Amino acid sequence: MRSRLRRLWVGLLATCFQCRCVGCRKWNRSPVCTSCEDRIPDFPEHACPRCRGSQMPCPLCSPLFPLTQVYAFAPYVGTIRRAIHGLKFEGRIEIAPWLGARMAETLPRLESDWIVLPIPLSTQRLRERGYNQARLLAVPLRQYKMPEKWLWRRRSTLTQVGQGRIARWEGIRDAFEAAEGVKGKRILLVDDVLTTGSTLYWAAKALKEAGAAEVRALVAARAQLMHKAHPHG
Ligand SMILES: [Zn+2]
Ligand SMILES: [Zn+2]
Repeated sequence: MRSRLRRLWVGLLATCFQCRCVGCRKWNRSPVCTSCEDRIPDFPEHACPRCRGSQMPCPLCSPLFPLTQVYAFAPYVGTIRRAIHGLKFEGRIEIAPWLGARMAETLPRLESDWIVLPIPLSTQRLRERGYNQARLLAVPLRQYKMPEKWLWRRRSTLTQVGQGRIARWEGIRDAFEAAEGVKGKRILLVDDVLTTGSTLYWAAKALKEAGAAEVRALVAARAQLMHKAHPHG
């Protein structure tokens, strides 16, 4: 509890005054300075139009992939990668408004009946971290309905860092459960990063099985994988 309060306090201080740019480490008003922001790369021209992956044909977007569209702000490299690390693992919550605003700009205007659901953390992870970074990133999307408890983690899943690709896919299988309320609804999932796609895949699958009409996703970053990421590929 003490460390959680300390983290939130450090985050708040950084928001109010100055923080180090995650790219160049210079003191700055914003967690990413304008010169580092200008250097954030775009997706390659040949990126998958559906999920922004770098492989064509895309191994993720088979007809079985339950997401119809993934919107992503930037490739998961450099400054954006460091920003997401800072937000998730260093308690730098002042990064969330900056990143969330860029994600909101990336999202085309959706009809007002779309429901926004940030990817939930397990109870244990939420306790450890003190906040759900996906929920913080979704704050600028407040024009859409964001009901609580429509999607949750069935059980605690192991951390994905350092696990093999297949283990990552299977380790999170059936991890999500969706409420009846999703039936017939169009859902936009929000998460920080799409790496293998396993988290978004299983979350979207749970929503579709509960009757969601369509599922799309908005992420801050999309990893550009050099290998086959998806068992359906
Ligand atoms: Zn910088
Ligand atoms: Zn794709």
